[in-house]
Amino acid sequence: MKILIVEDEKGIRDLLVKRLKKHYSVDACEDGESALDYIRVYIYDAIVLDIMLPKIDGIQVLKHIRNAGNDVPVIMLTAKGEIEDRVAGLDAGADDYLIKPFAFDELLARLRVMTRRKASAKQTTLSAGDLILDTVSKTVTRAGNPINLTAKEYMLLEYMMLHPNITLTRNQLEQQAWNSRFEGGSNIIDVYIRYLRKKIDTGYDVKRIKTVYGMGYRLEVQENEKEIN
Ligand code: CA
Repeated sequence: MKILIVEDEKGIRDLLVKRLKKHYSVDACEDGESALDYIRVYIYDAIVLDIMLPKIDGIQVLKHIRNAGNDVPVIMLTAKGEIEDRVAGLDAGADDYLIKPFAFDELLARLRVMTRRKASAKQTTLSAGDLILDTVSKTVTRAGNPINLTAKEYMLLEYMMLHPNITLTRNQLEQQAWNSRFEGGSNIIDVYIRYLRKKIDTGYDVKRIKTVYGMGYRLEVQENEKEIN
């Protein structure tokens, strides 16, 4: 689980980082602009977002996140008495909020609830046009034809199908899809992508896996195919 903390008060930020690191992998930054940079590069399981922030405030950051179609759970931190802020936060798509000062255990409990809720709401079937992946039976079909994947190939494909039309770096694929440490410079992801392509794209007109040169890979789903679900 990976968490982003966005908080400009150094004391609170450092404390949150120190304590959350015992439970999660944690990134932290102090203003809204950096937050958006982090969110563009990494995929988080939850974001702790202060409202009053330099450069771009928390509400605007949240609006950017939701407008980009990102449904990552967000808990907002608000100062006591800022009722308008709390309402604006929830309106902008926050999942929860905490009023400062708060007990750390309270934040931890809320994070647990939010990430659990997200996990249970996960679809059991993922589809990209005629490519269907069942996350319960761990089976994959294309145009109704069963496709045999190894465990690693399956994990890679499931991760890509959970993040359609997003360019994923080799680093992300290795760390997030496999939960393994990225061996900088290794081409293992390229090798597995080649295997996957052979199994899911060879012989079909529409190629699902695109190479984004110098960046990584993307699983493509057209707008009109999303409605089949
Ligand atoms: Ca603040």
